[in-house]
Amino acid sequence: MKKPVVIIPCSGIGKAYGTICREAVYEVVERRRPDKARTLCLGLLTKGDEEAIDLLKESPCISVDGCAKKCSYKNIERMAEKTSIPFTIMDLFRKHRDLNPNDLDLGTVLHLGEGGKYLVHLLADEICHVMDRMGDKDE
Ligand code: SF4
Repeated sequence: MKKPVVIIPCSGIGKAYGTICREAVYEVVERRRPDKARTLCLGLLTKGDEEAIDLLKESPCISVDGCAKKCSYKNIERMAEKTSIPFTIMDLFRKHRDLNPNDLDLGTVLHLGEGGKYLVHLLADEICHVMDRMGDKDE
């Protein structure tokens, strides 16, 4: 059976964008593509956990980052020595020009507002779209 895609959100503590990334990943791995995707704690990777690194080396990977520092993308590259398919909140805004972050009710780290929930939905859509295209290529 084909290996599930490993999707790693950044840890994003203290920012609603971090929560949006994590929630979008949960949406994909728990609700939309539970048989095709799994997630992994970024902290395990940064501390050099061998099991986590091995899993990443042998699986397709997606990184989801809340800001330009791209912690998930860079740590996957550094620790597993591979390139992940990158998603960032900024790319989402670049793609959806009608969305203005200043006009959205993002909410807080603990409780996303309607705008934050909408971004979770959009980000999960984008991730699923790319995953489905990856599946098509393998067939
Ligand atoms: S990418 Fe940005 S928001 Fe995410 S963990 Fe790194 S610094 Fe925080």
